Amino acid sequence: MIISIASGKGGTGKTTVATNLAFSLENNVQLLDCDVEEPNSHLFLNPEIQDKETVSVPVPKIDEKKCNYCKKCAEICRFNAIAVLKNTILTFPELCHSCGGCVIICPEKAISETGRELGLIQRGRAGKIDFVYGSLRIGEAMSPPLIEKVKSYIHPDKINIIDAPPGTSCPVITAIKNVDFVLMVTEPTPFGLHDLKLAVEAVKLLNIPCGLVINRSDLGDNKVKEYALQNKLPILMEIPFERRIAEIYSNGGLIVEEMPEWKPKFLELYRKIENIAG
Ligand code: SF4
Ligand code: SF4
Repeated sequence: MIISIASGKGGTGKTTVATNLAFSLENNVQLLDCDVEEPNSHLFLNPEIQDKETVSVPVPKIDEKKCNYCKKCAEICRFNAIAVLKNTILTFPELCHSCGGCVIICPEKAISETGRELGLIQRGRAGKIDFVYGSLRIGEAMSPPLIEKVKSYIHPDKINIIDAPPGTSCPVITAIKNVDFVLMVTEPTPFGLHDLKLAVEAVKLLNIPCGLVINRSDLGDNKVKEYALQNKLPILMEIPFERRIAEIYSNGGLIVEEMPEWKPKFLELYRKIENIAG
C-alpha cells in the first residue's frame, strides 16, 4: 500500500497527518518524506539515522579542444541548458534535465557527463517505523529526481506513507504518481478551498483514488464540505481546532502519543483508506 499525503497549500497539517498516521500504524510501516524542499517529518519522529547518500544527476561537460561550435547540442536541448556563441560554448547545469541528448548528438564526441549534486537522502528508524527523507541542496531547484530517488525506497510489502510537497506543480506530481491513494489535507478557508480544487484536479488527471482530511475543521465555513459532496470526495477525518493539539504540534510532538484517544481515530482513517484503495 502506498499513500501520499498531499495538500494544495502549505501549512494545512499534512505532515501532522503523515507522522501521526505512521506512528499509529506502528508495524510494517515506512514514512518517506518527499517534501524535499522543507522536510520536517523527522522533527516529529526523531529517527535514528543509519545511512546517508548524496544524490547527483548527470550534466554535460564540454571538451572545448574537440568542439567545432556546430551548435547541434544547443539545438537539441529543449531546456536551453547549452548556448553556443561564435567561439564559445556555455552550459547551464541548473537548467539541464539530464536527458543525455547532447552527449549522443555531438559529432565530435566533445561532451561527456559529470555529476551535479541535488541533495541528500537519509535513512533510518523511528521506533518501529522505517524512515527515509530527502533534503534538497540549498539553492537547487530541480527536486523531482531527488523525490524519485526517495520513492525508490518504497517497499512493496509495507504500508508506505509519503509526505508529499504542497502545491500542484512538478514536485507534487512526482510524489503522488503511481500511488494507491492520495489523502488531501485541507482547511475550511477560502484559501484552503481554492488550492484544494487545484490539487484535486491534478489527482483526477492521474486517476488515483482520493479522500480528504479537514484540519481545524470547526473554523471557517462549510464550503470545503459542500465542494467535497459535489465532487464525491469522501471526508475521512476531521481534526478540530484545539489549543492542546496546537501546543503539541508547536512543541514538535505527536498527537497520538500525547493524546492516546486519537490513535483509534488514525487507525480508523487507515481502515477507510484501505477500503477505498482496495
Ligand atoms: S555538438 Fe559538440 S561539437 Fe557541436 S557545438 Fe556542441 S559540443 Fe561543440
Ligand atoms: S543532457 Fe539534455 S537537458 Fe541536459 S544539456 Fe544535454 S540536451 Fe540539454
